[in-house]
Amino acid sequence: MHASLDGQHLSGAERLVEHFDSVEDELICMLHRALQHPRGSADRISLQVDEIPCEEKLTGNLLDFSGYLVGNWEQGRILACHLLTEAGVSLGAASCSLEYLANGAAPGGSSMRGAMLVDAQSGERLEKDQTRGVRVSRMDVTKVVREQLHRCLAEHGLDNSHVIEALILASKVVSAPEIVAELCWSDDPDYQAGYVASSASGYQRINLLKPLGEERGGRAFFVRPGSADLAGLIQYLEKTPLLIDRIGKIDRGITWSGQV
Ligand code: AMP
Repeated sequence: MHASLDGQHLSGAERLVEHFDSVEDELICMLHRALQHPRGSADRISLQVDEIPCEEKLTGNLLDFSGYLVGNWEQGRILACHLLTEAGVSLGAASCSLEYLANGAAPGGSSMRGAMLVDAQSGERLEKDQTRGVRVSRMDVTKVVREQLHRCLAEHGLDNSHVIEALILASKVVSAPEIVAELCWSDDPDYQAGYVASSASGYQRINLLKPLGEERGGRAFFVRPGSADLAGLIQYLEKTPLLIDRIGKIDRGITWSGQV
């Protein structure tokens, strides 16, 4: 689903539905989502439905979830840089990617529509189109896992669509063997949290990664140096259906002391 208001992007979401009978209900949920968006009711909504042959579908597991609580966004960025280097990203690549996101990674200094691909050692940007970037798609959790996730996140006051969708997306991204880690913060001016994800450390939410009111956000996918098949990686991220059928651990927020 893509929805816009006054020509501006408002909302977008997708689902992988296991049973044909559920398609109609999911479409109605999407319509509600577009019409009841906190920033207004959409005046243009596009819905697209594609059949996916069962044999094309992969299954996988959701990343473990942990939360860090910092006192301000500047501390949050120091922590993000630390977590990225722990995951195997060079300090140079981590710092320059944080700067790209902070300044708007698309030409002209706005947010990209998708993610940057960044060489985890040199920091070189590898995506062909710096406005569109790489758009991860075709991933979801099963109905059972979605219900478990709602319940577990609710216990920590984190049962919201930002967290759920980002956790699903990050789980697909770091399942690619070429990816070392991901960094993200939202372009929603009211949502200051973000995360660093990697297959070894899971999804690490940081409560503050940008100032309130900041519209620039984005994602960086750090690619293992020397990964030759970038086209194959992009094909996996954008086109391969992945249905996540196993939930990970969900840990409480821990306060970060600022010591690295
Ligand atoms: P959001 O978390 O939806 O606020 O998105 C934050 C940023 O991540 C956006 O500004 C885009 O740069 C990027 N982004 C959003 N959706 C995707 C996606 N499906 N694949 C890759 N990057 C995305």
